[in-house]
Amino acid sequence: MPDIVISEFMDQTAVDGLAADFDVLCDPGLVDRSADLAAVLGEARGLIVRNRTQVRDALLEAAPSLLVVGRLGVGLDNINLETCRARDIEVCPATGANDSAVAEYVIAVAMILLRGSYAATAEVIEGSWPRRSCIGREICGKLLGLIGFGGIARLTAARARALGMAVAAYDPFVAAADPAWDGVRRLDMTDLLAASDVISLHVPLIDGTRGLIGGEAIAAMKKGAILINTSRGGIVDEAALATALSNGSLGGAALDVFENEPVAEDKGRRFAAAPNLILTPHIAGVTEESNVRVSALTAANVRRVLKARS
Ligand code: NAD
Repeated sequence: MPDIVISEFMDQTAVDGLAADFDVLCDPGLVDRSADLAAVLGEARGLIVRNRTQVRDALLEAAPSLLVVGRLGVGLDNINLETCRARDIEVCPATGANDSAVAEYVIAVAMILLRGSYAATAEVIEGSWPRRSCIGREICGKLLGLIGFGGIARLTAARARALGMAVAAYDPFVAAADPAWDGVRRLDMTDLLAASDVISLHVPLIDGTRGLIGGEAIAAMKKGAILINTSRGGIVDEAALATALSNGSLGGAALDVFENEPVAEDKGRRFAAAPNLILTPHIAGVTEESNVRVSALTAANVRRVLKARS
């Protein structure tokens, strides 16, 4: 029986490092075989997951020796933290290790969605020359509105300002005196929604943020605004967003996260007619580089806990 079970993909160098000292079972397919995952956890002291493995009570009950859950990422909404706390299981996110990957994603999709021209490839191949319909907008001089002003939002703000954007943020939990506000306008949600050209979401999925961007919030956005969600599904009302794109009240959107992942066919179909929309499979934080950083940090966290408690 393994000492450490890894149920989703992890950089091989980090896996090998752990395997030098512990009995490690690394099987990224386990995330889709919950009975198999429960069956191998009998003596495991460490479990390493990304965001798809549901670390709920049933799984935790199958792991009576568990001391640490290493999270290859930061959101902890797939882990029952209360049960972990009660059982003294340490939960270790890879805080900060994928921030720059997400920040780059936000800037990239904001530029693509504002510019619009990149959708012309097929027409150019066919011999068309649609210059008038390809005249897009610039990122420079636009206002980026961040909802949630934690680690990822702050890096995104720095990159956006370097490109000439003005930046505002709404986060009632960051004190007005915090130096992070230097160069960033502190707005309430209503003013931020009304003023921003690009709105990007960076909040955790908790009771207070579920459904935060529903039909009413979308209607309060500037006509032609761009909405980007790399935070968590369930924060944006996907049906209301599809409608706002189709009727032209929003100018574009990028979603990296969804209420259900993968997206069910009927839910996906509602986006089919929405223009200027980028959908990606929860990959904003995952690059070749961030995978190495996140995996190394998670391996170090799990090793530290197991060494300290053996
Ligand atoms: P963080 O904890 O550093 O920051 C979150 C911020 O949200 C905090 O400052 C908090 O005060 C604020 N907040 C909480 N509730 C709020 C509310 N109701 N209104 C406004 N602000 C509120 O988190 P982070 O590391 O910056 O991550 C942000 C989000 O991005 C999380 O949901 C995380 O799971 C997600 N994420 C996604 C990916 C991806 O690949 N798509 C990768 C990394 C992180």
